[in-house]
Amino acid sequence: MALLQIAEPGQTAKPHQRKLAVGIDLGTTHSLVASVRSGQAETLPNSRGEHLLPSVVHYLADELPQVGIKAQLHLVDDAANTVMSVKRLMGRGIDDVKRLGESMPYLFEACDQGMPLINTVSGLKSPVQVSADILRALVQRGESSLGGELVGAVITVPAYFDDAQRQATKDAAQLAGIQVLRLLNEPTAAAVAYGLEQQQQGTIAVFDLGGGTFDISVLRMEQGVFEVLATGGDSALGGDDFDHALAEWMRQERQISAQLNLAQQRFLLRLARTGKEALSDELSTQLSFEGWPGDGAYAALELTRKQMDDLLDPVISKAIRATKRTLRDAKVALDDIAEVVMVGGSTRNLRVQERVAELFQRQPLTSIDPDRVVALGAARQADVLAGNQSGEELLLLDVLPLSLGLETMGGLVERVIDRNTPIPVARAQEFTTYQDGQTAMAIHVLQGERELVQDCRSLSRFELRGIPAMAAGAAKIRVTFQVDADGLLEVSARELTSGVAASVQVKPSYGLSDQQVADMIKASWTNVEDDRSARSLREQQVEADRLLEAVTMALAEDGERLLTTQEQQVIVEQMEQLVLARNGDDHHAIAKQIEVMAKASDAYAAMRMDDSIKRALAGKAVDQL
Ligand code: ADP
Ligand code: MG
Repeated sequence: MALLQIAEPGQTAKPHQRKLAVGIDLGTTHSLVASVRSGQAETLPNSRGEHLLPSVVHYLADELPQVGIKAQLHLVDDAANTVMSVKRLMGRGIDDVKRLGESMPYLFEACDQGMPLINTVSGLKSPVQVSADILRALVQRGESSLGGELVGAVITVPAYFDDAQRQATKDAAQLAGIQVLRLLNEPTAAAVAYGLEQQQQGTIAVFDLGGGTFDISVLRMEQGVFEVLATGGDSALGGDDFDHALAEWMRQERQISAQLNLAQQRFLLRLARTGKEALSDELSTQLSFEGWPGDGAYAALELTRKQMDDLLDPVISKAIRATKRTLRDAKVALDDIAEVVMVGGSTRNLRVQERVAELFQRQPLTSIDPDRVVALGAARQADVLAGNQSGEELLLLDVLPLSLGLETMGGLVERVIDRNTPIPVARAQEFTTYQDGQTAMAIHVLQGERELVQDCRSLSRFELRGIPAMAAGAAKIRVTFQVDADGLLEVSARELTSGVAASVQVKPSYGLSDQQVADMIKASWTNVEDDRSARSLREQQVEADRLLEAVTMALAEDGERLLTTQEQQVIVEQMEQLVLARNGDDHHAIAKQIEVMAKASDAYAAMRMDDSIKRALAGKAVDQL
C-alpha cells in the first residue's frame, strides 16, 4: 500500500507542512520510538530522559494499564497481571503458547479463533491488545515530543515473522489508532539507518546479538530494494550466556560451592554483567564481592579483557557457526558480503566485533548505537513514506500493494505475483491451450486478492496470435510479469515452441486510492470461504466441460467404428449424468461424476490410443521410425 504513499519527485513538503511520522522498534524486552527532526533521525525520550521503554504492561482492576518501567516493577509482586515478552505470542495459537511453557506465568484461555488470551484482573487480554497498549505509550511519547498528531508509523518486525505474526502486529497498531505506513524488517531498518540503500547494490549481513537471542539476516539490496535472502540464528544465545560464563569463572576463582541459592546466583550474574559491560571500555576491571549473600566477606577479583575474551570465545563461536550455516544455506559466499551491520547490546563487546571482522574479513558497522539502530532506520523510512523527502532522497523500498494475475478458464484468477512481493520483480508462469487447434489466446491481466475475475480489477487485455495449431494442452505459453521499481507492470507472452510473442505495458496501481486498496484486501479476507467454494465449483465445471467436449468429439470421430452400440450407450448415459451435475452447484457431485465418467470411458480411450498408433505405423518400415 505504501507504493501509493511515496511522494512524487519534486513534491518535497515545506517545513511547515512537515508531516509527523515515527519509526517504532516494537521489541521483545524493550521498545523505542524515533523520528527525523532537522534531517537527523533520533530516538525520543520520555519526560525523565529515558529512551528505552521496557515492553512490559501491568494490568490493574479499575485503572488504565501501566506500561514500561512502572509495569516492570510488578514483574515479581504481581506476575500474573504483568505481561512481558508478548512479542513471542504475536500471531501464535494457543498450542504454540503452551509449548513456551514455564517462561510464561500467565493463565491462558483460548478464544474462538484459537488465539491465546491472558486472564488478567482487567479482563481477558489478547497479545494484540497488550502490544496495542505498548504502542499507545510510544505514540503518546511521539506526539508529546513532536508536538502534534502523527500521520503514521513504520513498525519493525523480525525478518522471520510470518504472515500471521505480521498481521497481528498491524492489528495491534490499528487497535492503538495508528496508521501503519509500513511494516519493515528489523535488519532492513538497521541497514537503512546506515544509509546502505544509497548504494547501487550489494549483499548485506545483519548480525543481531541481544541478551537472549541471536539473529543473523542476509539481505540483498538492489536500487534501494531490500530482499531477505536468508535468516538464521539461535533463539537461546546472547549476552546472558556471556554472563553465565563469567559467573562460573568467578565461582571457581573464589572457590564457591556449585550449590548456589537464588540470591547468590543473581548476585554473580549481576556482577558478571557489570564487569562485562565495563570491559567494553576498559582493559581490566575489579569485580567486587561486597555484599555477597552468604558469609558477607569482602573480596575483589580482577578480570582483564584478555581473560574475558578467552572465557567468552566458546560462546561467540556458537554465533559464528550459526552465521556460517545461514550463509551456506543461502548459498552466499563470505566474500559476497559487502557490509556487516551490528545490532543488539552484545555487539558492543569488542571480542564479538573482532570475531565478526575476522569472519567477514571486513570491519562491521558499529558507529550507531546498536540498541537504537533499528528504530532510527524505521524513522528514516517513516519520514520518506510520510512524504517529507525530496525525489533524490526517495527510498525505493517497496512492495506490490495487490496481487497480480491472469484470467484462466472458468473466470478464475491465477495469481502470478503475490501482494507484498518487493519490487522490482519478474515472475513467469506457463499456460497452455484449452482447445485443439487453438491459434490465439486472450490474455487478461488482473489485480486483486479474490479468486474470481468478476471480483478483481481488470488492468489490461491483449491477445497472443499465431500460435501453431496443436492439440489442446500441447502449446506452451510462458507469460512473464515484470514490475519495475516505479510499480510499472509489463506483461509479455510467448509461445515457446514457435517463439510467437506479444506484450503490453500496464500501470497496476493507477487510479486506485489507498482506501480502495484497503477495501479490496479486506474483501478478500471476508470472502475467503465463499471464494473457495466458488473457485472449486468453477474448477470442476471447467474440468467437466473439458471431458464432455473431448468425449463428444471422440465419439463423433470413431465411436461407431470402435465401440458397440451398447458401449456407446453407457458412455452417453454417463455424459448426461455429468451434464446434470455440472449445471448444479455442488462441486463434490461434479467431481464424483467426472470420476465415474472417466472410468466409463477409460477402455474407449485406450482403444483409441492403440488405433492411432496402428494407423501411424501402417505402411512404414521399422527403420523409418
Ligand atoms: P534484547 O534485544 O535481547 O533484549 P539487547 O539488544 O538490549 O537485548 O542487548 C542486551 C545485552 O547487551 C545484555 O546481555 C547486555 O549485557 C549487553 N550489553 C549492553 N551493553 C553492553 C556493553 N557495553 N558491552 C557488552 N555488552 C553489553
Ligand atoms: Mg534487541
